[in-house]
Amino acid sequence: MADANAECNIKVLCRFRPLNKSEIIRGDKFIPVFQGEDTVILGGKSYVFDQVFPTNTTQIQVYNTCAKQIVKDVLGGYNGTIFAYGQTSSGKTHTMEGNLHDAQGMGIIPRIAEDIFEHIFAMDENLEFHIKVSYFEIYMDKIRDLLDVTKTNLSVHEDKHRVPYVKGCTERFVTSPEEVMDVIDEGKASRHVAVTNMNEHSSRSHSIFLINIKQENVETEQKLCGKLYLVDLAGSEKVSKTGAEGAVLDEAKNINRSLSALGNVISALAEGTKSHVPYRDSKMTRILQDSLGGNCRTTMFICCSPSSYNDVETKSTLMFGQRAK
Ligand code: ADP
Ligand code: MG
Repeated sequence: MADANAECNIKVLCRFRPLNKSEIIRGDKFIPVFQGEDTVILGGKSYVFDQVFPTNTTQIQVYNTCAKQIVKDVLGGYNGTIFAYGQTSSGKTHTMEGNLHDAQGMGIIPRIAEDIFEHIFAMDENLEFHIKVSYFEIYMDKIRDLLDVTKTNLSVHEDKHRVPYVKGCTERFVTSPEEVMDVIDEGKASRHVAVTNMNEHSSRSHSIFLINIKQENVETEQKLCGKLYLVDLAGSEKVSKTGAEGAVLDEAKNINRSLSALGNVISALAEGTKSHVPYRDSKMTRILQDSLGGNCRTTMFICCSPSSYNDVETKSTLMFGQRAK
């Protein structure tokens, strides 16, 4: 499918959460200064993105500005990826998932689920839809199926069209938004079971939710496929060089490596030159290869804390986002 506007297909959006209770109690300062719709100033330096969402932005505002169009595009046969990048506790999961069972608090994934089925119900009766979802995580470079805990080390293969996929990963057919929510709940529960400290674990693994949409016009037999990856990345914080050792240091190095591999791919795509895009440098970028850049819809959320306590991390998060511009 040709796209006249290919270079605009990587969007970088920056979202700041409010100060939390413990930050307020500690007396942290609120450090970002928002300017217009697309600029935030931190420590005297301006960072410009496609959009900057200040702390009072609602879930629905975020959804309408960034994800609504992607749903339409995926139903139109495009692939897409939405990421959330940022240090632990910066609002990644809030943005991607939010409160799954609350109309106001729902994040992007549950809203996408609702939106997809709304579109489908309004479409031509001749169209037949098959929607499948998968849910897995990547931890220490191992792919673990969140819908089947016995699958702890899946591998990435390519199909006959050279499209990469996670071999053997569970796929669930879904026919309503409620069924999508059930799958998410199930996946989250299996994450809980496997680890003692959920928050700690989720901050060290990338979780990936895949929605695959196939449609066929029963009259003309015309087929259309689109898929959307929704990625809640591992926390981007640096582990202090002196404090960490052994397993913690290995984890930190691993996360660092996979996040830089992602950054390198995104910035190569953003440069738009036909130069080499290093997809093969990590499992995640291999999996996402046909859903990043080019004709795909790619959106990166840069999630930030507004607290003076986190200023170094926030600066480095903003820099990461700038590489994609
Ligand atoms: P992360 O996934 O990046 O570790 P979370 O999404 O879990 O961070 O957010 C940490 C905490 O801050 C959660 O309690 C979450 O509800 C809250 N939070 C995050 N972003 C916002 C926001 N924009 N508005 C209100 N609360 C938020
Ligand atoms: Mg999280």
